[in-house]
Amino acid sequence: RAKKSRRGSFVFFSAEMGSDIRERVRLLQSLRSAVESERLFIVYQPQVDLVSGAVTGMEALIRWRNEDGTFVPPDRFIPLAEASGMIVAIGDWVLRMACHELVRLQGMGLGEVRMSVNVSQIQFRHPEFLEKLNSALLDTRISPSCLELEITESVAMEDAEFMLETLHGVRQLGISIAIDDFGTGYSSLSQLRQLPIDRLKIDRAFVSELGGDVLGGHIASMVIELGRNLQLKVIAEGIETPEQAARLKDLGCHEGQGYFYAKPMTSSLLKEWLLARGAFASI
Ligand code: C2E
Ligand code: MG
Ligand code: MG
Ligand code: MG
Repeated sequence: RAKKSRRGSFVFFSAEMGSDIRERVRLLQSLRSAVESERLFIVYQPQVDLVSGAVTGMEALIRWRNEDGTFVPPDRFIPLAEASGMIVAIGDWVLRMACHELVRLQGMGLGEVRMSVNVSQIQFRHPEFLEKLNSALLDTRISPSCLELEITESVAMEDAEFMLETLHGVRQLGISIAIDDFGTGYSSLSQLRQLPIDRLKIDRAFVSELGGDVLGGHIASMVIELGRNLQLKVIAEGIETPEQAARLKDLGCHEGQGYFYAKPMTSSLLKEWLLARGAFASI
C-alpha cells in the first residue's frame, strides 16, 4: 500500500515537472523567434522631480508582443533569457536602443535627462560587459552622464570584489548606478557604504504602503534616511496616488516614477507626453 501511494505520488510529481519543463522549452523557443522576428520592443517610463515636477529621466522597459497580440511580461521571460544566456544579446540591444532614443529626444531639444537601463546579473558578470558598454557609448554618442544602470541588491552584494571592480569600471566611463528594488534584498549596510553607487530605488512594495495611514511606510522612510546619510539620491518606484507622492516628498525623497505620473510608453507616445509637458526646450 505504502509502495503504491509512493509510486502514485512519484508519477504525479514527474508529470507536473514534465509539463513545467515543456512549458519552459516552448517559451524559450518562442522567445528565440520573437528576437529573430523583432517582436521585442522597448517602452519608456518617465521619472520626475517630486518637488518641481520636472522630468528628470526615464526607465527603459522591455516588452514582448506575441503574434496574436498578447504580451509576455518581462518577469516571465527575463529569467528564461538569463538561464539560456540570451539576456546578454537582448540586454545589449536594449542598452543601444535606449541610448539611441535618448540621443534622438535630446536632438529634439530635451534637456539633461537620464536614461535608466536595467542590467541583469548575467550581463553584468559577462567578461566583455564593460567593453560592450563603452562601445554602446561610442556608437550612439550618448553623453555618459545621461546614462544610468539599474542593478539589484543581489548583484551588488554577491562576489563583492568582482562586482566592486565592475562597478568602478562603470563609474569610470561616467555612467551612474542605481540599486533597483531596494529594500527587498539583503544588503549589508557596511557593504552598501563601500559601493560606488549614485541612487537607491525604493521598491514599489514599500511605496504602496504609503497612503492615508500614517503608520505605514516605515521602510520607505528608512531608505530615504539611509540615502541622506550615505549621500545617495533616492527615487521611489510604483507611485500610484497623489497621497503617496506627497508623503514621499515630505519624507525628503528626491524623485518618483509610477502610474500616477505616467505608464511606460512607446517611443512615439513618450514624445507626445514630453511635448504636452513642455519638456522640449526648443519647441
Ligand atoms: P523594475 O526594473 O523594478 O521595473 C519596474 C516595474 O514596475 C515595471 O514592470 C513597470 O512597468 C512597473 N511599474 C511602474 N510604475 C508602476 C505603478 O505605478 N504601479 C505598478 N503596479 N507597476 C508599476 P515591468 O515593465 O513589467 O518590468 C518588470 C521587471 O522586469 C523590471 O522591474 C525589471 O526587473 C525587469 N525588466 C524589464 N525590462 C528589462 C530589461 O530590459 N532588462 C532586464 N535585465 N530586466 C528588465
Ligand atoms: Mg528597474
Ligand atoms: Mg524596480
Ligand atoms: Mg521592481
